[in-house]
Amino acid sequence: MTTELVDVLVIGAGPSGTVAASIINKAGYKVKIVEKEQFPRFVIGESLLPKCMEALEAAGFLPAVKAHGFQEKFGAKFVNDSGQIMDFNFSDQFTEGWSWTWQVKRAEFDTLLAEEVQKLGVEIEYKTTVTGIDLGKDKSLISVTTPEGESKQILARFIVDGSGYGRVIPRMLNMEKPSNLPPRKTLFTHIRDTRRNNYIEPNRILIVDHAPGVWAWCIPFSDGVTSCGFVSEPGFFDAFTGTPEEQLRAIIASDPNIAERFEGCEFLFEPRTIQSWSATCDKFYGDGFVLTGNVTEFLDPVFSSGVTLAVTSSRLAADLVVRQLNGEAVDWQCEYMDVMMMGVDTFRTYVMAWYDGRLQKIFFNDYRPADVVNKICSVLAGYVWDEKNEYVKDSENQVNRLVRMIDLSRQIEA
Ligand SMILES: Cc1cc2nc3c(=O)[nH]c(=O)nc-3n(C[C@H](O)[C@H](O)[C@H](O)COP(=O)(O)OP(=O)(O)OC[C@H]3O[C@@H](n4cnc5c(N)ncnc54)[C@H](O)[C@@H]3O)c2cc1C
Repeated sequence: MTTELVDVLVIGAGPSGTVAASIINKAGYKVKIVEKEQFPRFVIGESLLPKCMEALEAAGFLPAVKAHGFQEKFGAKFVNDSGQIMDFNFSDQFTEGWSWTWQVKRAEFDTLLAEEVQKLGVEIEYKTTVTGIDLGKDKSLISVTTPEGESKQILARFIVDGSGYGRVIPRMLNMEKPSNLPPRKTLFTHIRDTRRNNYIEPNRILIVDHAPGVWAWCIPFSDGVTSCGFVSEPGFFDAFTGTPEEQLRAIIASDPNIAERFEGCEFLFEPRTIQSWSATCDKFYGDGFVLTGNVTEFLDPVFSSGVTLAVTSSRLAADLVVRQLNGEAVDWQCEYMDVMMMGVDTFRTYVMAWYDGRLQKIFFNDYRPADVVNKICSVLAGYVWDEKNEYVKDSENQVNRLVRMIDLSRQIEA
């Protein structure tokens, strides 16, 4: 059996893998990516947040992504069945930073990033699955299965696990922990959105608050197609019978915000289901490895935080890997895990508040001081590390305080 030697082996060629690989490669280290699938491959996660532009820029990917012509995204619009609207425009945010980003078909986006990193000299071995890891402090031996079904070994000084839902290292080392969020399910497809110009949505994500605990995303792409999916606890879907297409059509038809827009429009694939996606693990690092992206913790899709947390974590991890390979000491707990948990926990406040209805109270209400809207807007743009923003630093208390003020003003009005 042949053994190849690299400085860093990256598992997975999703955004977190390619961003990390690019940054470590630029520092002069030999990086290789092994990817289980052949690209282009489908993956969910199509609406980006402005904050992710920083990591794409650090990886050198921005010019290529800009040139590709993806749908530009300038905000997030929330609507409910009573016709109330909360329209966040990312240019009205408290934190200084990017005010726009893209909505992307991930098969195209991830392939583009993978091609860019290959141009920089990083080798990607597709259809190559990591099957075992013998971890060592200075070098680890990784066993992979090649496209031909053969086994081979790679010796790496460091491993970046960006395997997303594959969760390679947490599964191998029993690092997985149950999430504190209940299991949820989605039914989704891509729709030829022929009536979209009757609405002003193409340049933002539309989140439809369908019923308590049930919501839908509409993510328009630049080619006239829109991604649409409903999310709920699994039992909600049991009330709808028939094929997945019949079920999704019936759910869409029951929603006053999107029924007309999508009536009779072509579904580009049979609606798919994903469920129980929330996951976390004990530690995001260990001797000779770091976890990035979805492998660390994934909460929930409602605020489109996944890719942003993925590339922000891999950018930070990559800088720390380079420092460690350069012989510097790295405090992975303080410099990596604590930093990432701050961002995850900020989003956790808003995810929890969305599902228990506090956020709807804030969004669908006339009491909207501009400074508060701007600070929440920064969270929704992905700026969840800005400690100057009390809706980041003290998010739970601030959300609760706002809800109390809204309750009070309603009581006074009544
Ligand atoms: C219903 C739903 C909707 C979502 N919507 C959004 C959204 O709108 N916006 C957003 O930002 N995020 C969204 N997300 C989250 C998003 O899907 C992820 O956060 C994002 O894809 C994470 O990127 P990643 O690079 O960490 O992993 P991935 O993109 O999953 O890439 C990991 C790669 O690793 C490879 N791999 C796995 N196992 C192995 C192995 N053993 N060996 C080699 N390779 C392996 C996989 O094939 C894959 O290509 C959504 C998630 C769900 C469930």
